[in-house]
Amino acid sequence: MSTPLLSVRDLHVSFKTEDGVVRAVDRLSFDLERGRTLGIVGESGSGKSVTNLTVLGLHNPMFTTVEGEILLDGQELTTAPEPELEKLRGNKVAMIFQDPLTALSPYYTVGRQIAEPYMKHNGASKKEAWERTVEMLGKVGIPNPGQRAKDYPHQFSGGMRQRAMIAMALICDPDLLIADEPTTALDVTVQAQILDLLKDLQQEFGSGIIFITHDLGVIADMADDIMVMYAGSAVERGTTEQVLRSPQHPYTWGLLNSMPRLDSDTGARLSPIPGTPPSLLNPPSGCRFHPRCAFQGRVAGAGRCTTERPPLATDRASACHLTADQKRTIFIEEIKPRLG
Ligand code: SF4
Repeated sequence: MSTPLLSVRDLHVSFKTEDGVVRAVDRLSFDLERGRTLGIVGESGSGKSVTNLTVLGLHNPMFTTVEGEILLDGQELTTAPEPELEKLRGNKVAMIFQDPLTALSPYYTVGRQIAEPYMKHNGASKKEAWERTVEMLGKVGIPNPGQRAKDYPHQFSGGMRQRAMIAMALICDPDLLIADEPTTALDVTVQAQILDLLKDLQQEFGSGIIFITHDLGVIADMADDIMVMYAGSAVERGTTEQVLRSPQHPYTWGLLNSMPRLDSDTGARLSPIPGTPPSLLNPPSGCRFHPRCAFQGRVAGAGRCTTERPPLATDRASACHLTADQKRTIFIEEIKPRLG
C-alpha cells in the first residue's frame, strides 16, 4: 500500500486555561490518501477544527501541548520548527476558512493577496504572479478576472470572496487542502456552486481534502470517507457510503436524525440530540457520549458505558460497546424508519 498523504497517529492536543487543562483532541488517528476527500463531522467543540489547526501548526505553543504524530508525505509536523511549517503553509498545505473576511485583509486588493504567497513560495516575479492570479481567479469563476483582481475584498460578494479564498488556497497547488465549514455563511445556491467548484478543482489539482462541517448533507455530496468526532475523539469512521447507509454509532444516528429533510411536511420538527456536548475540562468517564446516549442500557455488563472507554479499532469502525449485531439491528429496526 502507498504511504498516505497525511497520517495522524494517537494525537493529543490540550490547552492550559485559567480553569484547568482542556483536552481538545484525545488519541485521534486517521489517514488521508492523495486525491481523496475526508469529511470530518461533529458539533462545535468536537475537536475537528483544533485537529486541523494543529496539522497546520497554527496552535500557540505557549499554551498548547501536542503529543502524537502528524506525518505529511512522511514529514513529521509536530516537531517541525516554525520556519519549516511556515514554508509548508500555503505551499504544501492550504486552508479555506468559513469567513473569508477574517482571512482577507481589507487594506490590499484581492489580486495582491493572492499573488503574494505565489511569489513567496515559487520565487515568481511580480508579473508572473499577477498573471497566475488572474488565471486562478478565472478558474474559480470570477468574471472579468483581470479587472476584478484590482478590487478590494469589500467590493466582492460573499460568494466571490469565498471563490477568491479558494484561488488563494490553490495557487501554489497544495497537496493538502483543509476546508473548514467553507460554505456555512453562503446561501444554498452559492453553496452548491462552491462545492461543485471544489470538486472540479480537486480533479484538476489532485489534492487531498479535509472537509470540516457539522452538516452531513454537505458531506454526503463532497466526501469519499467520513470521520465522526465527538468530544475530541473519533467515534465512527468509514467510507461515505458505509457511514451514511449503515451508521453504527448512537451519536451518528443522532446527527442523522437531527438533519432537516427536504421531503418532510412543512412544520415537521427536527429531533436534536438531547443534552449538550460535554466540557472538555472535565469530560465524562467511560464513553464520553454516555450522558446523552439512549442505548447504554442495551450494553451487556451493567455500567460499562460509564466506566470503560470504547476504542475505535479498524478503518470501518465505531467506538461503542454495543455488539455489531445490536448496532445493525437497532439501526434497521429503530433508527432507519425515523429517517424516512
Ligand atoms: Fe452509547 Fe454506551 Fe455506545 Fe457510548 S458505548 S455510544 S454510551 S451505547
